[in-house]
Amino acid sequence: MDSVLDYDGAASPMESLLVEGNIDPEAQAIALAAQYHVASAQDILKAALSLYGGRIALVSSFGAESAALLHMVAEIDRSTPVIFLDTGRLFSQTLLYRNELARRLGLTDLRTAKPRAALVQQEDPDRLLAYRDPDMCCWIRKVDPLDTALEPFSAWITGRKRHQAATRAALKPFEAESGRIKVNPLAGWTTQDVTDYLDRYDLPPHPLVADGYPSIGCMPCTSRVAEGEDARAGRWRGKGKIECGIHVTPEKSGSGI
Ligand code: SF4
Repeated sequence: MDSVLDYDGAASPMESLLVEGNIDPEAQAIALAAQYHVASAQDILKAALSLYGGRIALVSSFGAESAALLHMVAEIDRSTPVIFLDTGRLFSQTLLYRNELARRLGLTDLRTAKPRAALVQQEDPDRLLAYRDPDMCCWIRKVDPLDTALEPFSAWITGRKRHQAATRAALKPFEAESGRIKVNPLAGWTTQDVTDYLDRYDLPPHPLVADGYPSIGCMPCTSRVAEGEDARAGRWRGKGKIECGIHVTPEKSGSGI
């Protein structure tokens, strides 16, 4: 628990309770969100990695803004498990970028989660499901594989930010969902904050950013963004969808990174 002790000098009673596993995830998230609501991204990460060490993973799309969070985690502990969702519909540039970034940052535990082959064969034999039923496509290619990949973990780290969508406007640094803690160290960051961080540490951008893609997901559901459009305007354009479903419960519709 050293990193938590480093943050403010001493473990709070709440942190002691968390360490002993005496309170449920909902109560943990409320307590941690209150304690770290104005903390830096690095301090939120240090606390999370310390509190949930060995039981926490970073989930990364290796997209347009992912290098900042990956770098921050690698600076603290390069052996932190990093889960990458290979949906089978990604740009080849994303796969190459993942390999290059992981090598450069020295990540030692990169895990690739893939959809179940039988489910893909059953639901998407013609690879057109993204156009027919994008919610189902996201479920078999993202939600279901991530559920499986997260089974060994009690907490996970995301790169979500409040400015990205109305559904994220009230995002807190710590949340609880489905019995797990979700950590959002960059909740308060802007696009400029990410750009400044990448510049400061000379981190390579995703190659498609310069080609007009400020937000990058799967190939069938990502289009170029015109000047003046929102950065996420090219995600699921015309499909009536703004999240892939990873971050919202089924009854609220949708889920995504
Ligand atoms: Fe399918 Fe598009 Fe979702 Fe990717 S983003 S899983 S292609 S619907």
